[in-house]
Amino acid sequence: MNYYSLNHTSPNTTFKDAVVNGIAPDRGLYFPETITPISKEFFKNIGDYSNEQIAFEVIKQFVGNEIPESKLIEIIKKTISFDFPVVKIDKNIGSLELFHGPTMAFKDVGARFMSQCLEYFSQDEKEEVTVLVATSGDTGGAVANGFLNAKGVKVVILYPSGKVSDIQEKQLTTLGNNITALEVDGVFDDCQEMVKSAFLDTEISRKLTSANSINVARWLPQMFYFFFAYKQVHQQHKNIVFSVPSGNFGNICAGLMAQKLGLPIKHFIAATNVNDTVPNYLENGKYDPKPSIATISNAMDVGNPSNFIRIQELFQNHLSALKESFSSYSFTDHETREAMKNIYNKSSYVADPHGAVGFLGLEKYDLSDTEFGIFLETAHPVKFLDVVEETLPVKVDIPPQIEKVIDKEKVAIKINSYEELKAFLNSN
Ligand SMILES: *Cc1c(COP(=O)(O)O)cnc(C)c1O
Repeated sequence: MNYYSLNHTSPNTTFKDAVVNGIAPDRGLYFPETITPISKEFFKNIGDYSNEQIAFEVIKQFVGNEIPESKLIEIIKKTISFDFPVVKIDKNIGSLELFHGPTMAFKDVGARFMSQCLEYFSQDEKEEVTVLVATSGDTGGAVANGFLNAKGVKVVILYPSGKVSDIQEKQLTTLGNNITALEVDGVFDDCQEMVKSAFLDTEISRKLTSANSINVARWLPQMFYFFFAYKQVHQQHKNIVFSVPSGNFGNICAGLMAQKLGLPIKHFIAATNVNDTVPNYLENGKYDPKPSIATISNAMDVGNPSNFIRIQELFQNHLSALKESFSSYSFTDHETREAMKNIYNKSSYVADPHGAVGFLGLEKYDLSDTEFGIFLETAHPVKFLDVVEETLPVKVDIPPQIEKVIDKEKVAIKINSYEELKAFLNSN
């Protein structure tokens, strides 16, 4: 499979090069040249397939013959070795729980898939690849965990000092081996800026790639669980509506790709917090990115969502066609807390702030009797312990995955300028 750059001035490239380079030389995001729908038979019989078989069917055309079939199956098995249940919380609403992986957020899926692809591709490379990533919280842990001990791959994670939760910090600073955490004296935007500078800096001697959802190997496997959810609910014979709590819009863009492959989804809702660039665009046709605003659903505090350009490409930049499949609404922190309370009071279900924003999306859309709404519960409530416990009358149990890292010792190198990052990259 070949990929083209959405800036259209770099040559098309292979899956391997798209993964290894992350972004095109012209700074555009990569997009697959062709998208071939899966057969109707497959969807009719989806109940007969295992999750692994489904994932293989979904991803194979995007990898092509660049990874042998048996190896790709092995990668898939390791990627999705946990559950993806749709938990019914109301007559016509379900929560698709994406937090049963090792770091308890959906990013485990993309991070595990990408790390194994990169490890496979770097086997025959002389040069080691360094994954450089800035995190506001969840990405760092998922990437650290997914890439731990990957051969030929080093990982450098930048995170803002004092701005991530204790659990998130432990998840990205305690693994050691090929993972290094750099604690930046600044905010997330400073980390992001340093990473961008490094990618543009010709004086950096290492081969760098990114592990954000701009990388096709992190973005595309996120299609899997939309199919797994469909498999669980299709026998209700209702029209399915997904509401995806969105920040960088990688997750929902994967859902729209799944629809393009033929997955029978009636509608998608991108639910955001007050970082409302996309909802505003749908409303008034002006795409006006803004600096991000801090909220209680902080993994979605993104003012300029990088994957929205891929969504526009999927709809050939036709706003009216996009609006038929896609709505987007924004919600305040106050509304998010009220939603957490409503869900808990009605269904005794504890949603994290991101899932609650997804739930609000379904409420606003106003499902009919012939529709079934699914919101993505993108992280376990324990990852946002403070907000959950101050909003709901509950005490969240610490799951074993989290218990394991809580008592480990944090190891991080403090940096406070780009020059220090550069010196680190060139010396190690
Ligand atoms: C990253 C993240 C999101 C946002 O996903 P995007 O693909 O960036 O839109 C939502 N919820 C949680 C918990 C996350 O970690």
